[in-house]
Amino acid sequence: MRSSTHQPLAWIDGELAALEEQGLRRRLATRIGRQTARIVLDGRKLVNFGSNDYLAIAGDPRLAAAAIEAAGREGWGSGASPLITGHVKGHRRLERRLAEFEGTEAALLFSSGFAANAGAIAALAGPGDVVFADRKNHASLLDGCRLSRADVRVYPHGDWRRLDALMTRAGRYRRRLIATDSLFSMDGDLAPLGELAEVAERHDAMLLVDEAHATGVFGPNGRGVAELLGVEDCIDVRIGTLSKALGSAGGFVVGSRSLIEWLINRARPYVFSTAMPAPVAAAAMAALDIVRERPKRRQGLLARAEWLANELVGRGWNIGNTASQIIPLIVGEPAEAVGLAVALRERGILVPAIRPPTVPDGEASLRISLTAGHTKQMIAALLEALGELGPVR
Ligand SMILES: *Cc1c(COP(=O)(O)O)cnc(C)c1O
Repeated sequence: MRSSTHQPLAWIDGELAALEEQGLRRRLATRIGRQTARIVLDGRKLVNFGSNDYLAIAGDPRLAAAAIEAAGREGWGSGASPLITGHVKGHRRLERRLAEFEGTEAALLFSSGFAANAGAIAALAGPGDVVFADRKNHASLLDGCRLSRADVRVYPHGDWRRLDALMTRAGRYRRRLIATDSLFSMDGDLAPLGELAEVAERHDAMLLVDEAHATGVFGPNGRGVAELLGVEDCIDVRIGTLSKALGSAGGFVVGSRSLIEWLINRARPYVFSTAMPAPVAAAAMAALDIVRERPKRRQGLLARAEWLANELVGRGWNIGNTASQIIPLIVGEPAEAVGLAVALRERGILVPAIRPPTVPDGEASLRISLTAGHTKQMIAALLEALGELGPVR
């Protein structure tokens, strides 16, 4: 038996108390029922501005029906990693469908968008290489950089000129990779993909773009920001997720056949992780049908987001440079963000507070995620509640 003085994890309680004191302690809440614009969280009915289910697809019965049907046919668990015996027909169909949807030669499924990002970067860069990363990139891209053991250079947010200058000194590396979100998940702004593509070409670098929040939302066909800006052909590695606007789960990489073959051989989260359950892939197929059949959903969402952003600016809120369905209310200090979130929750509205380390110090905010499921009344109620609480300066 262990002696009572040996408590190697005792430090954790102290660290948690310190987080609590700084207003940075996070706690889990439990949702009851489906993901829709109205949810019950920890027993409380709330209008939900805190989901990435941008097209209101996650709770759609068609996804559940597709999953149930696939489970009946192919069973649930995949049983093994794709390269052993886990790659089933449903995965192959979805990969072909994603390649077709994205207009690329090939696609590869991962069990999450996080795994796709981390796996792709670490497979494309290694010791002797360099990765250039936007300062506001998602954690999964950053972790991919770390795992790659390549040198990492962080450039100021969206600053392609600075990147260009940094890259003039990168000629001695074996390979160069630029990695960026297309739609930044905390600020809701867009990466200058056209300029980044030019910089990549000038310096003979690969360009990897994570469309996690843009897939299904941006572009004439819902392929993302690269489609919107007409620069898809300039991007070597495009990554998306099935778990946000597509309402299912999992991530994917699209690009050339040789890129995909390389990832099958070298992306460790692909090689060493069990393939996603086939019903998850079937649900994503059903979601892609909805994206194709309902272009008005994404168009309406973005129009309404623009309207809401203008209203908020008119009422004195600092919303940064958002150009999307993600609208931050930047308040500064964590305690203010948390206070505002609590006050909204008391009024039946959920808008999550985003604090360091998710955002830089001094940029604590509330993040409004607008979806196609929000009615005019819900948005009006949000504006009214925010009006009572006033912009925090
Ligand atoms: C959510 C997110 C991911 C991860 O996707 P999951 O499928 O949820 O793992 C990757 N990149 C960005 C920018 C994200 O916001």
